[in-house]
Amino acid sequence: MTDVSQAFVGAGPVPCADHPDVETRLRCSRCGKPICPRCGVRTPVGMRCPDCAGTRSSVAANPTQTVVAAGAGLVVAALAGIGWGFYPAWGFYWALLLGFGTVEMMVRFLRKPRGSDLQAIAIVIVLFGIVLSRVILAQRLGVELAALSEFGPAAQRALNLRPVPDLLFAVLPVLIAWVRFR
Ligand SMILES: [Zn+2]
Ligand SMILES: [Zn+2]
Repeated sequence: MTDVSQAFVGAGPVPCADHPDVETRLRCSRCGKPICPRCGVRTPVGMRCPDCAGTRSSVAANPTQTVVAAGAGLVVAALAGIGWGFYPAWGFYWALLLGFGTVEMMVRFLRKPRGSDLQAIAIVIVLFGIVLSRVILAQRLGVELAALSEFGPAAQRALNLRPVPDLLFAVLPVLIAWVRFR
């Protein structure tokens, strides 16, 4: 394997595109961007920048896309959460809608829907939908979430906070978000 940096030796060191404090003679073999040993990725066709090597996470590579996707996902999660709060008996279907609806909406705005940071963002959005549904439910039932323990099992049942099946319904969308962006 020939090291692409050889071709550029003599061009003089320049600051790395990602690490301005690092002087480098390496350049990406595809786009020519200055890269340093910290961010350069060794590929069969030479050293490449994280963007060209495809190793940069979707979030870091496309911050604007990520914000738009998160916003769109948040709308779906909020709608599912509101629906869940008003019709708790359909918990299983709301859980599916919250999970699949949110991630599929986010995917529409993302070029590369993958990465642990995306997983985290999607899970936070889904959790927001779940919490929202419980807050709405508590409001409708006149129960203060903070004082829930005083109300006992009856209130927990009314609020759909039992381990089975309610906790499973809550885990479902989180799992969907985690698997989809893995
Ligand atoms: Zn490149
Ligand atoms: Zn660098």
